[in-house]
Amino acid sequence: MFKQSRSPVRVITDAPEADVGSTDVPDELKRKSLSLPDIPESEAVRHYTRLASMNFGVDNGPYPLGSCTMKYNPKYADRIASLPSATDIHPYQDDSTVQGTLEMMYDMERKLASISGMDAVTLQPAAGAHGEFTAMLMVRAYHRSNGEERDEVIVPDSAHGTNPASAAMAGYKVIEIPSASDGSVDTDALKAAVSKRTAAFMLTNPNTLGIFDKNIKEIAKAVHNAGALMYYDGANLNAIMGISSPGKMNFDIVHFNIHKTFAAPHGGGGPGSGPVGVKKKLIPFLPSPIIKKADGKFVLEYDNKESIGKVRAFHGNINVVLRGYAYILRMGSEGLKDATVRAVLNSNYLKELLKDGYDIPYGDLKKHEFVASASRLKKEKGIKASDVAKRMIDFGIHPPTVYFPMLVDEALMFEPTEDCSKDELDRMAEALNDIAKEDRETVLRAPRNSSVSRVDETKAAKDMIFSTRYLRRRQ
Ligand SMILES: *Cc1c(COP(=O)(O)O)cnc(C)c1O
Repeated sequence: MFKQSRSPVRVITDAPEADVGSTDVPDELKRKSLSLPDIPESEAVRHYTRLASMNFGVDNGPYPLGSCTMKYNPKYADRIASLPSATDIHPYQDDSTVQGTLEMMYDMERKLASISGMDAVTLQPAAGAHGEFTAMLMVRAYHRSNGEERDEVIVPDSAHGTNPASAAMAGYKVIEIPSASDGSVDTDALKAAVSKRTAAFMLTNPNTLGIFDKNIKEIAKAVHNAGALMYYDGANLNAIMGISSPGKMNFDIVHFNIHKTFAAPHGGGGPGSGPVGVKKKLIPFLPSPIIKKADGKFVLEYDNKESIGKVRAFHGNINVVLRGYAYILRMGSEGLKDATVRAVLNSNYLKELLKDGYDIPYGDLKKHEFVASASRLKKEKGIKASDVAKRMIDFGIHPPTVYFPMLVDEALMFEPTEDCSKDELDRMAEALNDIAKEDRETVLRAPRNSSVSRVDETKAAKDMIFSTRYLRRRQ
């Protein structure tokens, strides 16, 4: 941007005095020149403000990405996570000097266990997918301890892609079963698939269609009768917390996404946090170290013979865990329940408003998310789900998840979280219903109000350019 407005680029001639002492640097390592831009503060501030406004995030407006649970991240959690007592400590410090942090972790484990109905929790995994992988290693260790080698993991076709990927990475053969016509688990297909080879059944409940599986007890029974474990993908925990729990549904193992359910940023590739909760029989296999409380002191215990070992350097992304902890404490159990009720209400409200312009296949009453379809627009006008999504950008509204789950044609998957107001939902619905009435030409030209228009998404994934320096080197 600066390059466009002035040429040649101005270079600093008057560098400030160094505020650190000098050292002896060999001549050949010394820079001959240093080109720093020479611009007034006003221009620097405006440059970064302009860049910041080109972006969109949860601080700009609702971010209704289905499955992702992009909540507004309350500022108090950020403030707490940036206190020196949270940032100026190191995992190599002696346990006795970080008692506060260890106590927070110890208490968080217990709070998550209580919310999920599990008996113990590890905070180590760095995200949901990592939690799934950690859990699959524990599933294997559990069966081995019983003298069994089971080699299959069953997933329904509505599962998030990370479920089969994590099972496969842990060395399991993935068996996919079709959904029933109402979008829930086909219990006959499941019963036909489970056997002595089944290590676990992975399920998201409510699933990615926002449908709570009413047969969950029967499903758990069929899986347990075959000696297999029930795995709960907790990405949708925000649809049931405070009202039901994976424990009540007879699951044995659960992952949480702190960055989804409990409000911490999904850091654009940055840290997440994916703790795993387990029932008693799986406790011996939890990753090391375990936080123990002895004589009023918190200590890390590494001597756990049956543990699957470490899955992450140190103790996990504790600063993300801390944000989630702050959220849980601030909300309290009534607050968490209220968040669930609001999320479910918001989803159903938006779904009803969208019935004007879109088809909503699968089920009537939804949980916290629902899947609309643009297939009618595709048939009538050649407008696809991705075109609708691009057009939403012109209305200043972030698009939903598209083309997932795959069992809905031209899927637009919405998850308006509990922090969406009625006004925001009304605005979103009005824009979407307006788009459904627009002509093909207008929609296919979108987006026109964004800093970049349509990008080649395949090229972006296959041909990554990480920095301007990298780009220059390739030119
Ligand atoms: C997000 C998500 C995951 C993976 O979680 P990450 O924290 O993104 O690794 C797994 N399952 C479902 C249903 C999800 O929505």
